Amino acid sequence: MDSEALQALIERLPPAAVTTHPGEVSTRAHDRWALALIREARGERVPPPAAVVFAESTDHVATVLAWATETGTPVVARGGASGVRGAAQAVKRSVVLDLSRMDRVLEIEDISQTVSVQAGVRGIQLEAALRPKGLTVGMYPDSLEVSTVGGWIATAADGAGSFGYGDIGDALLGLTAVLPGGELLKLPAIPGMASGPDLRRVLTGSEGALAVITEATLAAWRAPSAHAWEPFRPHSFETGAALLKEVVQRGFRPLVIRLFDRQAAGESLSALGYEGALLIAGFDAAAPAVEAQRFELRELARSFGAVRIQTPDVAQHWWEHRHEGVARYDAVMGMERALGDGVILDTFGVSALWRRLPTVYDRVRSALLEHAGEVGCRVSSVHVSGASLRFSFLLRASTDREVERAYAKVWADAASACKAAGGALAHDGVGVLKASMLPDELGVSGVETLARLKHGIDPEGILNPGKLFREPRYDGLP
Ligand SMILES: Cc1cc2nc3c(=O)[nH]c(=O)nc-3n(C[C@H](O)[C@H](O)[C@H](O)COP(=O)(O)OP(=O)(O)OC[C@H]3O[C@@H](n4cnc5c(N)ncnc54)[C@H](O)[C@@H]3O)c2cc1C
Repeated sequence: MDSEALQALIERLPPAAVTTHPGEVSTRAHDRWALALIREARGERVPPPAAVVFAESTDHVATVLAWATETGTPVVARGGASGVRGAAQAVKRSVVLDLSRMDRVLEIEDISQTVSVQAGVRGIQLEAALRPKGLTVGMYPDSLEVSTVGGWIATAADGAGSFGYGDIGDALLGLTAVLPGGELLKLPAIPGMASGPDLRRVLTGSEGALAVITEATLAAWRAPSAHAWEPFRPHSFETGAALLKEVVQRGFRPLVIRLFDRQAAGESLSALGYEGALLIAGFDAAAPAVEAQRFELRELARSFGAVRIQTPDVAQHWWEHRHEGVARYDAVMGMERALGDGVILDTFGVSALWRRLPTVYDRVRSALLEHAGEVGCRVSSVHVSGASLRFSFLLRASTDREVERAYAKVWADAASACKAAGGALAHDGVGVLKASMLPDELGVSGVETLARLKHGIDPEGILNPGKLFREPRYDGLP
């Protein structure tokens, strides 16, 4: 980008909205993708953007996108940068549009129980604003403290409360977004919609490649005053999954339900020295018929050989500490490198119908174990017809370069094991990491359909090039 073009942008925005300060731009060159972090730690910096814009309003975003279209400048939207697939990674000569100052809760509407926010509101701020009203959005991704509502929409996020409250796609009622060129797309808050394809869904998971979301209205729920926890120790992950399927298909309605295999439970509850697989169901303690559901659930669990854990602290402990994964991840993968060089901590998400889930679990776990020493798995979202699994794995090698090679191999092997077992990749979006896997996931015609959508909306390809689609302009990390 030439200095004249940059000057034109500076003149259209308030003072100090645009920075080219080397410290500011280099800290916004990437998100939390493991490969970018590991390369940065050894001094191979991800190419920084030419400038960072701190937007404070939809108008600012529209100004940036109009200017970017005129000058052919790539724009990378950035929320909380908690993404782990390289989706918010800058490309050379780009502008990073930092939305963290768009952090206002605009309205909480009591009658319909909706909350309207600017897109840069972090999950923790959202929940804090709703709490005095006794409300919650309830999805609770593990990254709640650092991720934003715009990022949730752009990556189709889910969380610990998704069984009871739905994922972000379920919560999203309306939004304002800016299209390339600066035009506004305003979708009013509507609970149901049948006027053609649902454009809210089109933008869900679009990773800043179709539009920049500036405001959103989400559905809120009455927050439970307390959870009534039911923790069980199944014989194995497999019998736990069979129990989980039955719980869901018989129509039990806990707000929270999670299944961990032995490794994942041990990691989550290391402070308690917990051993074995773990299934946790958390009901709204004041919900109608909750005691009857709890009783029935205990009976059902017994029939699957799962032992009820008498100390409810197991569940409460997990619930209170579930956001600590971000600090652990940052300690291992950030500059501190708490476990030393040659180590990568990452997650691998898959989704499958119930009938395929045991095989998918088994094959993907085996593929990960070929390379990684520690592999844990939890069921992260549960549906009537199937579930998603989030594996975590720790790779160790003697050097960072070697672990990078192992990382490429583990992802390739686990992805093909997943496909062979009839599963699909899930969680955390596509980013740079999974862009080349998209044809395997969607088929050639699926990718071509997405490409037509992208080129129809963003013919100049200025929005987040190289993510979702590999485009010639992309020159970031391989
Ligand atoms: C330890 C850890 C735990 C995690 N747990 C979960 C979890 O439980 N569930 C889950 O779903 N994810 C989880 N994640 C992944 C991550 O937090 C989510 O993908 C999250 O939704 C990203 O939000 P963000 O604001 O940080 O977005 P960013 O990382 O900043 O951006 C992600 C993508 O969205 C785009 N984007 C951001 N804001 C906008 C906007 N306003 N308009 C258009 N595009 C935009 C970016 O360009 C990029 O493509 C976890 C990550 C970590 C490190």
